[in-house]
Amino acid sequence: MKGCMKIIKSISEMQSFSRKARSSGDAIGFVPTMGYLHEGHMSLAREARAKNAKTVISIFVNPAQFGPSEDFAAYPRDMEGDLEKCESARVDAVFVPDVREMYPEGFSTHVDVVAATDVMEGIRRPGHFRGVATVVLKLFNIVMPARAYFGRKDYQQTVVIRRMARDLNLDAEVVVMPTVREPDGLAMSSRNAYLSGPERAAAPVIYRALLEAEKLYGGGERSAAALALGVRKVLGEEPMIETEYAEVSDTETLAPLKQVTAGAVLAVAARIGKTRLIDNILL
Ligand code: AMP
Repeated sequence: MKGCMKIIKSISEMQSFSRKARSSGDAIGFVPTMGYLHEGHMSLAREARAKNAKTVISIFVNPAQFGPSEDFAAYPRDMEGDLEKCESARVDAVFVPDVREMYPEGFSTHVDVVAATDVMEGIRRPGHFRGVATVVLKLFNIVMPARAYFGRKDYQQTVVIRRMARDLNLDAEVVVMPTVREPDGLAMSSRNAYLSGPERAAAPVIYRALLEAEKLYGGGERSAAALALGVRKVLGEEPMIETEYAEVSDTETLAPLKQVTAGAVLAVAARIGKTRLIDNILL
């Protein structure tokens, strides 16, 4: 049925939608996004729809999670295209709050998840996870989901949000879904829109590098340094790529590992020109 998707701008309207759903016993599946939607986002929306009576997507480019020299102003936006995708995915409501309503004059409360933020993205993007945790908690209080869906592509984010949900007794189940990739292996990301033709052609090297580590691991390599070196070597073959980090960490705590004994996450951040991309695989 077309035309029954709600586009909700105000926080109070979103809360009354959610209260109404909950009081009629309808579980809400929630997908928080920054928009410029792609198949990665839509895979979360489909799962939300499959497992919940109501599906809500939020589209909010959250200024609080961007550093002063990051790409907040340039972040790609396409509200019309996004709403069409939500409509075809039969999302029940799209929440598109205003920055001034989310962060009114005098706003001064933040959530700092201390664990798992002193590594990887946490070091390179100071304040990023504080911005993420704060907005996700706000969105949970507004949307009141039974389940909220996140992509494994942002692995550290899933660890931080799970930790917050546990520590603060949030009444929502955090569900993590696999990374959706382009046919050539590049992880889908709104930021891929920044890549020039040649940069886009070079970008799949990131996934090839991760597959190289997987191959080494499959061959019995358990040294974190050797696995990370394997990744750096493949990335180093592409002159357009500048590797920021390649780290092997515990899947739960993100503590750096020396030896991989019971699984690990291998996470990479790399720059291609002005664009910063992240990706990871589970070993
Ligand atoms: P973003 O709009 O980038 O903030 O992402 C919103 C949600 O979509 C986050 O939970 C992301 O991890 C998830 N996501 C982004 N890209 C992908 C992808 N390629 N595969 C699966 N989930 C993704």
